[in-house]
Amino acid sequence: MIYEKLSNVYQEIEAISGSLEKTRILSEVLKEAGASEVGRVVALTMGKLHPDWMGEPEIGIAEKMAIQVVATAASTEERAVKKSLRETGDIGAVAELLLAESAQATLFAEELTITHVYETLDAVAKTTGKGSAKDKVARLVGLLSDASPVEAKYILRTLTGQLRLGIGDMGIIDALALAFVGEKEARKHIERAFNVCSDLARVAEVLAKDGLDSLKIIQASVGRPIRMMAAKKLSEPVEIIEKAGPEVLVEYKYDGERVQVHKNGEDVVLFSRRQEQITEQYPDVVDLVRRQIEADTCILEGECIAIDPTTGGTRPFQELMRRRRKTDIDRMSEEVPVAIRFFDILFHEGEDVTALPMAERRKLLESVVQRSERVSLTIGEVTKEPERLMEVFREAIDSGHEGVIAKAVHEGSAYQAGSRSWLWIKLKASYQEGMADSVDLVVVGAIHGRGKRAGLYGAILASAYDEDSDTFPTVCKIGTGFTDEMLVELKERLDRQTIGTKSPKVLSDVEADVWFSPAEVIEVLGDEMTISPTHSAGRGRLEGGGLAIRFPRFTGRWREDKDPKQATTVEDLIEIYERQRGRGQ
Ligand code: ATP
Repeated sequence: MIYEKLSNVYQEIEAISGSLEKTRILSEVLKEAGASEVGRVVALTMGKLHPDWMGEPEIGIAEKMAIQVVATAASTEERAVKKSLRETGDIGAVAELLLAESAQATLFAEELTITHVYETLDAVAKTTGKGSAKDKVARLVGLLSDASPVEAKYILRTLTGQLRLGIGDMGIIDALALAFVGEKEARKHIERAFNVCSDLARVAEVLAKDGLDSLKIIQASVGRPIRMMAAKKLSEPVEIIEKAGPEVLVEYKYDGERVQVHKNGEDVVLFSRRQEQITEQYPDVVDLVRRQIEADTCILEGECIAIDPTTGGTRPFQELMRRRRKTDIDRMSEEVPVAIRFFDILFHEGEDVTALPMAERRKLLESVVQRSERVSLTIGEVTKEPERLMEVFREAIDSGHEGVIAKAVHEGSAYQAGSRSWLWIKLKASYQEGMADSVDLVVVGAIHGRGKRAGLYGAILASAYDEDSDTFPTVCKIGTGFTDEMLVELKERLDRQTIGTKSPKVLSDVEADVWFSPAEVIEVLGDEMTISPTHSAGRGRLEGGGLAIRFPRFTGRWREDKDPKQATTVEDLIEIYERQRGRGQ
């Protein structure tokens, strides 16, 4: 298939707002791409050449290089590109315009195929080392010399992460269902396959080539991360038992880093919550797993926590984060020793065990973990009594943990990969009336500080994630509660994400002095949710405007373990708002 076809489809999708119609149009092009190219179309549409967990270099060039590429391809001065970029704020539109104006002889240009575009972008991503910048520019200029203006627009947007179609992963799944099965009903099978293999391009290929039945038998496999199950939250023990009961397994909620451990003989790979390989960060955990996990092949999940080597007690989460440093891993392993508390098993001796009920998985887990101080299962017990649940909760808090997670143990309590369901319900010490819990928001912009804060940021603009439209609508401006250290850290971290203009994925009516790529996730506490004319989260779904968080403050915790798409969603905020209203009546 030629790339121009896909570019035209992107153009069409951008121009309409209805998600059903967007899905329908995308489904047609997916069908046309067929088994040979559908994987690449999916990857390009997601703006990622490979899933994160493969650890392959990704597309993404800085604005400076994009300007150079466009200027060379359009035989014009970089100054002209910059001027046009200032006016439009969109390097894709600039490329389209300047290429159309340039004297570039398109007569002899080759038609660009999807495969060629994908492979060139991949080759550019993989070009490293001395002189690589020059090489990258040359390859990209070559690609643009064969591109029509509209193709150039989308190549540049893809390269700079500015593609904004308003279709998230779930929209692509819907489109695949329509394209290859002809009905949306198939989406649950496609979603399941995606959740267990974490590679939507591969899922698309299997579906196009071998059909739905082959997709249904895709199983988890060691080496490929399974999308993690998440917990809902409630503050009333009675309600918790009602939702997940009649009996629940109440486990301590440890405050560390979630790790998915894949073991195949002596090979051990660790994946983070955002599905990145973090094996190198925890060489000691790898050793412990080799020695103390009695299974040839398995996938386990646990919480990695920092411990005090003298007392054996747990240390705060901030200590554990020192392990994130890429250098000095050996010294760090000594300074910040860790323990792992396992809470689930998803694969065992060649078999996917996610469909087993929680009670059975726990038994299996007990049989493979050889315990010691450093390696053990989470503390927990089964109860049907709300009073007992509260006692375990208090014990957990008294021994320095965050709270508890109550897990359903009934026949239907499978491990639900990739979903946040009522099968796991968390109860934390911080839950009170009002907003009850912190939220995780994406920093999208900042306002310069004045007076004492000159040279730093005075306030930051934060967004939730809207899964339906794959956008980041703002939900609050945070200007208070920062310590001096926090302000310095904010400046340092956020400046790495600065972009010249607002990202097309960010929806904001509030002006900022500096805009950032939606990348950094922070934890925020607030008093309550209110309807606001200023913020865009949930606008159109609620009467009177969007949602805003009142009196938001940064807790100081950077959620490095979360991808921006794993931030609190608009859907979550609406749920919090409705709960809060329910309580107020
Ligand atoms: P929070 O900010 O409350 O940790 P979250 O959005 O990061 O929430 P949730 O999935 O809602 O994540 O909460 C579950 C997280 O709690 C898991 O990802 C895991 O890291 C951690 N955790 C700690 N103890 C347990 C346990 N016993 N069982 C499951 N998860 C646990």
